[in-house]
Amino acid sequence: METYRGVIERYREWLDVPDHLQVISLLEGNTPLIPMPRLAEELGGGFDLWVKFEGMNPTGSFKDRGMTVAISEAVGRGVKAVICASTGNTAASAAAYASRAGRRAIVIIPQGKVAAGKLAGAIAYGADVIQIDGSFDDALNLVVEISQKHPIGLVNSLNPYRLEGQKTAAFEICDVLQGAPDWLCLPVGNAGNITSYWMGFRQYHQARQSGLPKLLGVQAEGAAPLVLGHAVEHPETVATAIRIGRPARGEQALQAAEESGGKIIAVSDDQILQMQRRLALHGLWVEPASAAGLAGLAQEIRQQRLNLKGKRVVAVCTGHGLKDPDIIVRQFSSPKIVKPELRSLEEIILGEVSHE
Ligand SMILES: *Cc1c(COP(=O)(O)O)cnc(C)c1O
Repeated sequence: METYRGVIERYREWLDVPDHLQVISLLEGNTPLIPMPRLAEELGGGFDLWVKFEGMNPTGSFKDRGMTVAISEAVGRGVKAVICASTGNTAASAAAYASRAGRRAIVIIPQGKVAAGKLAGAIAYGADVIQIDGSFDDALNLVVEISQKHPIGLVNSLNPYRLEGQKTAAFEICDVLQGAPDWLCLPVGNAGNITSYWMGFRQYHQARQSGLPKLLGVQAEGAAPLVLGHAVEHPETVATAIRIGRPARGEQALQAAEESGGKIIAVSDDQILQMQRRLALHGLWVEPASAAGLAGLAQEIRQQRLNLKGKRVVAVCTGHGLKDPDIIVRQFSSPKIVKPELRSLEEIILGEVSHE
């Protein structure tokens, strides 16, 4: 088998990218599609369920798929610095790929609203991290203006090459399942990812009749502009990766969901955290936003709005749980401390077992 060289080399013929591309890769993509038969049973059964675990990308989220293309294009064009606004994962990814290319990354984040692992990542990868006393949406407006005034490359998902790269996740799913699933469920924030998946599935279907999934896009109740039909001034949710009130690709996302025969819905923070916990009890620790897609699926099944009999469902888990350790630490008490003695330990272990 050929050695794996990242999403650009793997799917280049399917990507609309310019010749000046200079490939900068950390071997992103090729993430596991994990069968979840026991979780499918818990949700009602009768269908096949897989999780596309995007937390296994080099910086821990799907953002790497788009970033490899955006940075490769910017570097090939001679750009010396890139800039982005971010709820966290884009910042970490931009920082890693810019550093990989020996370029400068400037990331603007909303103060106090970025999960610890993402902020740490952006700093560790060497970005110039600037916090603003405002929202993600404010940050995005500012970086767009700066990139128009100065020779600094914009790598937010307004950058079309981000979407080109993110299409590759749809290709991978079709390649592994030998066709599209019946449903794809995923979280929706700025709406670049759902837009990319739809582009990818359509492109493969046109060329190979691989079929088209229905899209179930899921927002958090406190940040659900696409469900409400209007912008949300002060979005709030524990799922910081989708804490966005004015999605840049909102129109395209709504159109994609409708064309596919699917929809965009909202779930509560409680539902998101419950699904995060449930997934962890199946061995998958994802960050809160990543559990939103499955939380939405569970809600639709509970309300009997979906007929999944014999269907194939893929849930995209967009980022790794390690990105947001605080959310776990806050919800659970810290582990007990005992004396380093056999008896004390046995008391606790056997005591706990006998309570079950
Ligand atoms: C960016 C991100 C999202 C939202 O993706 P959009 O393309 O903005 O809709 C969801 N989950 C995680 C972990 C993310 O990093």
